[in-house]
Formats: sequence, structure tokens, C-alpha cells
Amino acid sequence: MSEPAVILETFDLTKTFPIRGGLLRRQIAEAQVLNGISIQVPKGRILSIVGESGCGKTTFGRVVTGLYPMSGGACLFDAPPEDLRRFRELWHGEGRGENSPRDRQAVSNLRGKYDFHKLSRNERKRRCRENQMVFQDPYGSLNPRFTVQDIVAEGLRIHKVFDNRKEEQEFVQSILERSGIDPAAIHRYPHEFSGGQRQRLGIARVLALHPKLVVLDEPVSALDVSVQIQIIDLFRELKSQFDLTYIFIAHDLAVVDYFTDDVAVMYLGHIVEYGTKHEVNGNPLHPYTQALISAVPAHNPALRRKRIRLSGEVPSATSVPKGCPFHTRCSHVMDICREQKPPLRPALRLSGDNGAGGSAGESPIRQAACWLYAEG
Ligand code: SF4
Repeated sequence: MSEPAVILETFDLTKTFPIRGGLLRRQIAEAQVLNGISIQVPKGRILSIVGESGCGKTTFGRVVTGLYPMSGGACLFDAPPEDLRRFRELWHGEGRGENSPRDRQAVSNLRGKYDFHKLSRNERKRRCRENQMVFQDPYGSLNPRFTVQDIVAEGLRIHKVFDNRKEEQEFVQSILERSGIDPAAIHRYPHEFSGGQRQRLGIARVLALHPKLVVLDEPVSALDVSVQIQIIDLFRELKSQFDLTYIFIAHDLAVVDYFTDDVAVMYLGHIVEYGTKHEVNGNPLHPYTQALISAVPAHNPALRRKRIRLSGEVPSATSVPKGCPFHTRCSHVMDICREQKPPLRPALRLSGDNGAGGSAGESPIRQAACWLYAEG
């Protein structure tokens, strides 16, 4: 199978947050929210990141859009295939790009061109148009003092896209129309809209910048069920109109199943399984994914799965267990699981499932991080 075109790839991405305490608010601990995430987002597809609350999904979205600085690793956005291949060789190869001054220079040059967190200020400002985020809260993410025109045009003004207000207004009205909002509403304020319409405004604001990648952070979870489907269908329609790639952060697996092409399952800041939705839903490999999927109600009684109940709590991000992060709750735990972290590596692919039927672009490689699938 040919290599999929990739819009975003992370390399051992980590993110930690300091925990402060005491009178002087000194750092007393560190929460490890992302623990070495290496993942590819194929161009033109919808990748869902799923997992329990607090697993690091939103933090991942915020780090890859540059809203949070990363603590370690690399994050390459829209790099040409040959540069990306070269970077992978350097990063994952022996010496991890540190073998010689020439390797180090090559890593630094490539990061200076494509790593969102290493770009110069001007280049980062230019490129952040292409990598945008739609937020979960349609109420809190819009400035209540801005009119619709100001909200949608804010990014355009920062990037000095239009010279005059008339052109800007015509453009804003066209984007509003495509997002399902009456263009005559440009002088109204956010409080005059319903939740679904406000989310459409959030979408229009992002689309105005013509992004290549949009991170959707639980964009329908605050909306009524009847409105959720309208917004999801709008995302789908806009994706083909604007040639977008989505990262869809969600915890509702029924919505994920309806909307997505590919799924990455996250547990305690680790990706534990990755594949097309048909693969992950049809044949979940990782015990955590099996438990998650068994909890989804099936409409057809013939497809109902036996519910797997996980015991114990998710460990705290301040004390991530040694070895497999899931071993404290896994019913298949073995000695090796307590000692060594299983790498995310290629696993079985369902015969005949190559991601066909999803969006344009090629499906990712099926991967799982579990010693049950170790060779030999
Ligand atoms: Fe369970 Fe071990 Fe697999 Fe972790 S590596 S999910 S503990 S079997």
C-alpha cells in the first residue's frame, strides 16, 4: 500500500503542566498530560481522538494548533512528503537525529520550516491561518461585545486580508451563507443566536481564514441532540467544499461512528490504538478500546456486545504507572505489562478494509500498543 499523504505528524509529543501549591505557589508536582504521542493525520480525512474525560484529547488539539506550547517532541505541519520522510528517518533512526552535527542541523532546519512550535514569529502568524480550532463552548468562545461581522472578520483583519470594509463585508456575508447563517445578520450580537447558530458562527470564523486543518474540540457536545446532527452534516459539507482535514475530538462514540473516517484511542496521554473506524469498531484490539466500544448501546440487538466493565479509576496524570499505562485496570495484565511500555506498532488489518467509503485520502496503518500483539 502506498504511503498516505500527511497534513500533520507528531513525533514523541509530550506536554506537562506544573502543579503549584503552598503559600508561595511553588511547583510541587508535574502532570504528564501527553506522553510521547507519535501519530499521523492523513490529508483529506477525518481523524477522531476518543477516550475518557481527562485523557489528554483537548490538550493534544491545543498543542497541535499552537495554542499550548509543547514540552517535548516535534510536530510537523504540511511538510512535503520527501521532507517528512527525511525527518522520520532522522527522528526515529539510530541516534534520533543526534548522530552528527550534520544530522542535528538537518533536524533543526526541517523543524524551522514545518514545526509549528519552532517557526519564526512571522511565519507562525502566516501559517496559523491554515491550522485552526473550533471550540466546544459556543457560548463562551464568542466575544459578546463583537457583532457577527467583527467575529468573522477578526482573523481577516489580523492577517490584513482586505483593504476596504466593503470587500470584507461581502466576503463575510458569503461565508455566513455557506455556514447556514442569514447574511443579513452581520450587525447582530452572539446573544441573539441559539446554541446551534452560535456554533455555526464559530465555524464561519474559522472558515474565513481558509484553513487546511481544523481541530473540532467536542463541537456538538453542548448542543441539543436535534441540532447536533445538523452541525455534523454542515461539517461534512464544508469539508468537501473547502478541501479540509479534520481532527475531531469527542467522547460520544455514536457521533464518532457517524462522522469519522479514522479513530485514535487515547488513554492517559498515550495513543493505544489507531485505525479506520471500521477496523476499530469492528475488531477492537486493545483491551481499553474493547471496553469503550462495549459500552456503546447498539440499536440492533443482534449486534449488541457483552459489556466489559473496567475496575478501578484512571490513574492520576501526576503518577502515570510504569509499563503499560492501562495495566492497573486491564484484565489481561502480564508481568511484562508492569515493567515495559508497549510501543504503538502495526497490527492486524481487517481483510478488505482499506478505508474505502470514507473521505478522500488513504487510510492510516492499523496500530495498537499492547503486549498481547507482540510478535514471537
Ligand atoms: Fe493489558 Fe498488558 Fe495490553 Fe496493557 S499491554 S493493555 S496491561 S495486556
